Amino acid sequence: MGILEHTGWEKLLELMEAEARQKNAPVYEFRKHVSTPFRALVAVLLSSRTRDETTLEAVKRLFRRADTPEAMLALSEQEIAGLIYPVGFYRSKAKRLRELARVLLKEHGGRVPESLEELLRLPGIGRKSANVVLSSAFGKNAIAVDTHVHRLSNRLGLVSTSSPAETEKQLHRLVPEELKSRLNTTFVAFGQTVCKPVKPSCGSCPLAEHCPGAR
Ligand code: SF4
Repeated sequence: MGILEHTGWEKLLELMEAEARQKNAPVYEFRKHVSTPFRALVAVLLSSRTRDETTLEAVKRLFRRADTPEAMLALSEQEIAGLIYPVGFYRSKAKRLRELARVLLKEHGGRVPESLEELLRLPGIGRKSANVVLSSAFGKNAIAVDTHVHRLSNRLGLVSTSSPAETEKQLHRLVPEELKSRLNTTFVAFGQTVCKPVKPSCGSCPLAEHCPGAR
């Protein structure tokens, strides 16, 4: 159980949130711009293989022009690509965004579906992305496991896994239902500011005393 013996889940998330907010974790600014399910879906699609700061600037530019499926479809692929550049794979993502808007309009009445199965059938949306949308846009008890969540869960000794899929399974068994939707944002925020992939700030980390991964 690692650090949980000393904190419990709620206290752990509170400590991480407080520290990450004090350090202005980029994810909090990011979430302000993804206030609707469609925005969340677009943002998560743009964020793959792209730095958080780059994605944030791209969504701000794009949402000024289009933040509904109708408006997205009214833009050409080249216009979208120009707005989201330089996110990784911006040309193929521009194509996907138009396709996504088309499918949402044709098959879902322009609304983002609320189930994992339906989200996974949308173009360009994988399991992690679908879970981000479910938890951040719909407040569902989903756990989106990205590199931050996978890394921190292992460093903190919450799980002992070698893949994000295993981490997701184990976390689902461990995390209380009512806290699941908070986990991704909190772990991402803490991973961006304190428990970074390279050179984590263990020396000033509020969890260091009980963290098995502290160096
Ligand atoms: S002590 Fe180090 S490894 Fe543990 S959570 Fe803090 S920064 Fe991460």
